[in-house]
Amino acid sequence: MNARRAVFTLILVAAAASAAYMWMSARPRSSRSDMNALSERYVRLVLALGQHDPDYVDAYYGPAEWRTEAQHAKVPLAEIEAAATDLAGDLNAITPVPSEVGLPRLRHSFVARQLESLRARVSMLQGRKLRFDEESQALYDAVAPAHPEEEFLGTLALLGQQLPGAGPLAERYETFRTRFVIPPARLDAAFRAAIDGCRARTLKHVRLPQGETFSVEYVTGKSWAAYNWYKGDYRSVIQVNTDLPIHADTVITLACHEGYPGHHVNNVLLEKNFVRDRGWHELSVYPLFSPQSLIAEGTADFGVRVAFPGPERLAFARSVIFPAAGLDPATAPVYYNVAELIRKLGYASAEAARRYLDGQMDAAMTASWLEAHALQSPKRAAQQISFFDQYRSYVINYTAGEDLVEQWVEARGGAVSSPDRRWELFENLIASPTLPSSLLTPNSQLPTPK
Ligand SMILES: [Zn+2]
Repeated sequence: MNARRAVFTLILVAAAASAAYMWMSARPRSSRSDMNALSERYVRLVLALGQHDPDYVDAYYGPAEWRTEAQHAKVPLAEIEAAATDLAGDLNAITPVPSEVGLPRLRHSFVARQLESLRARVSMLQGRKLRFDEESQALYDAVAPAHPEEEFLGTLALLGQQLPGAGPLAERYETFRTRFVIPPARLDAAFRAAIDGCRARTLKHVRLPQGETFSVEYVTGKSWAAYNWYKGDYRSVIQVNTDLPIHADTVITLACHEGYPGHHVNNVLLEKNFVRDRGWHELSVYPLFSPQSLIAEGTADFGVRVAFPGPERLAFARSVIFPAAGLDPATAPVYYNVAELIRKLGYASAEAARRYLDGQMDAAMTASWLEAHALQSPKRAAQQISFFDQYRSYVINYTAGEDLVEQWVEARGGAVSSPDRRWELFENLIASPTLPSSLLTPNSQLPTPK
């Protein structure tokens, strides 16, 4: 993914030649206690690690020469590890006292925890094997709660009553939802209508900087359904994977997740509030395998239920998406009855990943398990397993992330019945560098950047 990014062809050869030197060079004492200088070292480490792991740097829009230097220095993993240990020590030496609250403390905790995650990723690339839960704790600052098999069986029994026919449930589900596939010729119109709806609802509650924009591309041959590539300057490229059929509700979830109020808005607000307004370099880079991803995916998934709370999603689908997709709006309610139950099977993905990556099930068993417990078609299960191979425990960021975000928002008065408060808390999460573990603290409030 990183390889497909535009590569700067202008290379500062002299700077690159001396780049390796800077890793281990002695730094003046003042730079060891200056948070901006420590933050720059963190960004350079993320860029250096990106040279060993093509998925690691999901976005970067800081100084172009830092990336160019990382590309040409190609610092070995052992040196990255040593420099990261050194940086962790310097960060630790300026840990704010517990009585200090607000953004400086949030900033310090964020960089320190992101760096801890980077060190875990370095050790994995050096061959360290972690169990699924250990890995997700180390990389994402969270462990996904276990969901027992009986939970899925209960939902499957309810689906059995809803889905006509007598064959295996997965086949009945596929047959049922074939009626709701968006014809390829209508996909772009339906997706753009979904984005317009998500964006309009977001703009009623969240102030976005002028000039924020995105483009949409349709791609194939990916392990994901869609992707937001944030380019900086308030711009995103949203890619939608058309390998598998795309159903009516999917365009709403993808538009909210990748665009508004999901990844695009999250990145725009972090750039505005921190990189531009405060010069915090650390937010100009987004390491994919880091705690930042749990908040990003959790809020992106929850975002659809903020933009379209309760019955509004069905109403929007029936009045806008079904007509745009050329589907019969009268069939929308029955589709959503089933979709709501299917959503509960989402936890099956993390359960399958845990068993697969811990070696309890091989690929064939995992595919069967996903077909039986998540009602995935064989093709979708194969796509999911290739996602597990590529991104491993990243999968917890969706379901566990969404639950963590939902619980945090709803425990602070952001229920569906209080839409303004729901948006306010949601914006609080997407507009701050929040750590997953901090959401578990009872009554925790986040410092707001306004
Ligand atoms: Zn996402």
